[in-house]
Amino acid sequence: MGADLVIRQANEPRIDMWNLPWQHLKRAIFEIVGRTRAKKVDNERTYHGEVCEIDNRVATAVVNKLGMHERNVFRYITSGAFWNEMQLQSIGWSTGLCQHCEEQVSDSTHVLWSCPSINQHHKCALLNKLRPSALPKCIQLGIPAALGSSFTQPFRGHALQPATELEPRESKLIGAPVGSTASYAASCDNKVLQGLLDEDGLRQEALNARQSFQILKQLKSGPCIIIPYICHPAAPSTINVYTYGSWKFPLRFHFSVGGAGVWWPLRKLKGHPLSEGEQQLAHHKASEDGIRLCTPIGGYAGSSTRTELAAGILAISAHGPVHIGSDSQVFVDGANQILSDLGQGIETHPNWKLTADGDLWEHFYIAAKESKGIGPFA
Ligand SMILES: [Zn+2]
Repeated sequence: MGADLVIRQANEPRIDMWNLPWQHLKRAIFEIVGRTRAKKVDNERTYHGEVCEIDNRVATAVVNKLGMHERNVFRYITSGAFWNEMQLQSIGWSTGLCQHCEEQVSDSTHVLWSCPSINQHHKCALLNKLRPSALPKCIQLGIPAALGSSFTQPFRGHALQPATELEPRESKLIGAPVGSTASYAASCDNKVLQGLLDEDGLRQEALNARQSFQILKQLKSGPCIIIPYICHPAAPSTINVYTYGSWKFPLRFHFSVGGAGVWWPLRKLKGHPLSEGEQQLAHHKASEDGIRLCTPIGGYAGSSTRTELAAGILAISAHGPVHIGSDSQVFVDGANQILSDLGQGIETHPNWKLTADGDLWEHFYIAAKESKGIGPFA
């Protein structure tokens, strides 16, 4: 971390501690700690083979679906505390035969994957069609390694993949493209991803899927607040701009993306041109019946409230009076509170850096205070 309070790590998105929304700061730091701990375990323990990075989201999702006893079994296996019959035999505690099928046990994957007596109880019959040797060692032991970024390779990449000749059916099950059409499409996807990563001077093969996606959606520049002209007319009594924000895949934390858009019905560029803020913040499309503006919302993480707020900022970045229509209660309540305080001359200066989405609320506050009249929100 430098004097600018930005944490920089190789192949990781920058963490700007000063400008990162308050609610994401703890998670961002904890993830760095978690990854460092996983790397240390990866270097010092051998039972799981190579892992590189653990997908904590998958591990948490699995654990949360298990009962208390099953959780303990899962921990017992994934932490390497599990001793198989062969290991127990070496200290004289076992005959080396499986207690269920009485076959000779050669490693820990027997009871987890290869024991016929246990396999007949599998609820997911698909697993019986997959040889354990087709899976990375860590996956065999229940440790979810992070997804690889290459579309032409299996889910966890070639690096973790055992040197086993795979049948096409197995290749498909572990995520590798099968057939010339799928392989060509996958190689094209790789080129698209590499083209995007070129802007950051990074190589796709050095990154996993999380790193690639987070780097692509990280903010390239610091916050930029452009205030429209001071607006003297009062806000119209009817809505003249509609805002909407959307946050996709919120449960897939590292892969979630969002966007904000506004719709100005009946607005014409000739009579109501774009402000500098609108030009800087968004793409626009003018049509006969109005103007649409939209912008992607990136950054370390986000939420639907954050995108709704960004859309609100886009709306008040226009010159002239605005009467915003939004379907986000959180945004409407927050904006009305700020406008109410400003209308009563109350100088509310909350510590924006310690407020959820404070970076965007501060932008809204400054734009409302320095430019707009106090109008109603709906
Ligand atoms: Zn067995």
